[in-house]
Amino acid sequence: MPERVTIIGSGPAGLTAAIYAARADLSPFMVEGAQAGGQLMLTTDVENYPGFPDGIMGPDLMDQFRKQAERFGTRIVTADVTKVDFSSTPFKVWVGADEYESDAIIISTGASARWLEVPGEEALRGFGVSACATCDGFFFKEKELVVVGGGDSAMEEALFLTKFASKVTIIHRRDEFRASKIMVQRALDHPKIEVIWDSVVDEILGDGTVSGVSVRNVKTEETTEFKTDGVFVAIGHTPNTSLFKGQLALNEKGYIEVFEGTATSVPGVFAAGDVVDFVYRQAITAAGSGCAAAIDAERWLEARE
Ligand code: NAP
Repeated sequence: MPERVTIIGSGPAGLTAAIYAARADLSPFMVEGAQAGGQLMLTTDVENYPGFPDGIMGPDLMDQFRKQAERFGTRIVTADVTKVDFSSTPFKVWVGADEYESDAIIISTGASARWLEVPGEEALRGFGVSACATCDGFFFKEKELVVVGGGDSAMEEALFLTKFASKVTIIHRRDEFRASKIMVQRALDHPKIEVIWDSVVDEILGDGTVSGVSVRNVKTEETTEFKTDGVFVAIGHTPNTSLFKGQLALNEKGYIEVFEGTATSVPGVFAAGDVVDFVYRQAITAAGSGCAAAIDAERWLEARE
């Protein structure tokens, strides 16, 4: 017998979909991914998720989501989906050699950090180049660091890194930050944080470990070498949709297109969270759309039966 609903991905969207689908008696099956929990696993304090007036750590929040999903009967496999076939029903999902069939699918594979794609970045990843301050900040006690980006992630990374680093320099390509006012103010007010405006990193320098960056002012075109012990890249995300190319309609940025509610171009396949949303991209909006996807899937199954 095929599964009724299979959920691919386990951030706030996927786990909320699981809670709702489980409570609708659909006994959801979830392939949570090898790196489960989504982007909140890589953050520290979450201060804007309603219900936690004192804040909560990202991984703790996801642990609570997961427990709640399991409490109502979600079955979870910790692995990455390697292939899908949505060309006929029941839909097929593979985890390596294991094949699963499902009447409905909810995709919540989220998005992943983007990289600068400049010389030195790939070779020095893990040797001073990182996209996760929470994961790697600890290794930079009393070091001088660079954060690239101007959004909330860049502010959050920079603020977090001040716990370890002696100095954090944010390099941003424009003369104002995109981040929310409160985060910008916190960063600008911090005594350890400095900003280099209107500038991009053209190269990450270092032999074995990071020793500096080549910074170009985009207004004057002047290039300088800036000494640093580490580079944290926080320039946004790309949707995790490579599995679905050729199977579902994607927009020009690669996000899954949804039509009515959470319905994708294939009836019976629904999508929620950051894999769809390039506008709001918040844990709470992802959770909300996960709830919607479970309700949409339930109604679709009911109508079909
Ligand atoms: P984002 O808002 O898209 O910001 C990306 C930043 O990186 C922008 O400032 C952008 O510059 C810059 N950038 C992009 N490509 C670049 C490149 N190739 N070279 C140099 N700079 C580049 O992404 P985000 O900061 O990851 O945030 C994503 C979403 O999550 C947002 O909705 C944000 O509000 C949310 N978020 C919220 C919190 C929180 O509330 N605590 C924390 C983290 C994230 P431009 O400004 O010039 O485009």
